[in-house]
Amino acid sequence: MANLNGKVAFVTGGSRGIGAAIVRRLAADGADVAFTYVSASSAATATALARELAVDGRRVIAIQADSADAAAVKQAVEHAIAALGPVDVLVNNAGIFVTGVIGDASLDEYERTMDINVRAPFVAIQAAQPSMPDGGRIINIGSCLAGRAGRAGVALYSASKSALVGLTQGLARDLGARGITANVVHPGPINTDMNPADGAAAGAMVSVLSLPHYGEPRDIAGMVAFLAGPEGRYVTGASLSVDGGYAA
Ligand code: NDP
Repeated sequence: MANLNGKVAFVTGGSRGIGAAIVRRLAADGADVAFTYVSASSAATATALARELAVDGRRVIAIQADSADAAAVKQAVEHAIAALGPVDVLVNNAGIFVTGVIGDASLDEYERTMDINVRAPFVAIQAAQPSMPDGGRIINIGSCLAGRAGRAGVALYSASKSALVGLTQGLARDLGARGITANVVHPGPINTDMNPADGAAAGAMVSVLSLPHYGEPRDIAGMVAFLAGPEGRYVTGASLSVDGGYAA
């Protein structure tokens, strides 16, 4: 367990899947946590998660904010800072996975993918970093498809996740003098609603892994916790794969 006592974390897309595992892990490691969700149908789950984790003086809050809306993302970060204090650990996790071969992709799909997967992290970082304490952490959730598409139909998604690599490297340079690190974690197939281990495409995905099975959300949360904690202090500008050997 990393020691995050006294730290404040902000996680986008924390109501389900990988984001919820990250919220749970950072809270278990001692952080106060604010997290976002978007769907009205997730409000009850998000509120219940926040209540469950808000024990022993821990503060955990759920904020409805659509990552497609830049103003909403900025307001969510400001809300978190007002409620919990400056953000020490920012995790840009919310993302969408729009598939289709290039001729089928619409401009609307392009814009929505880029708005949620790239612009929202940029906006959250801009909102959090002025008050982020020295030694802060920025962790972006990319994808194994950023480094190697590996199959047809993922160009748009791969482009959006590759953009996070450039953004992260630039941030590492911009913020390094303050001891703030910026890294991308690239998950492989992780069993969530986005990519269920019993889904139609699961067999094909497993067939190209080194470890022949899906990962679990906690596998990504563990890497995030390492980067957020004291032992991660000298890792920055890096792309860290937690992908079952997809890239090997
Ligand atoms: P899920 O679809 O299972 O969960 C998505 C989470 O993000 C939910 O909490 C959802 O909130 C939230 N979210 C979705 N859209 C928005 C939005 N517009 N604004 C705010 N929150 C939003 O996804 P995963 O947990 O599987 O994926 C998390 C991240 O990991 C994504 O960036 C994804 O690209 C990446 N990833 C996932 C892989 C996988 O195999 N699962 C592999 C590689 C990368 P709500 O409950 O309200 O809908």
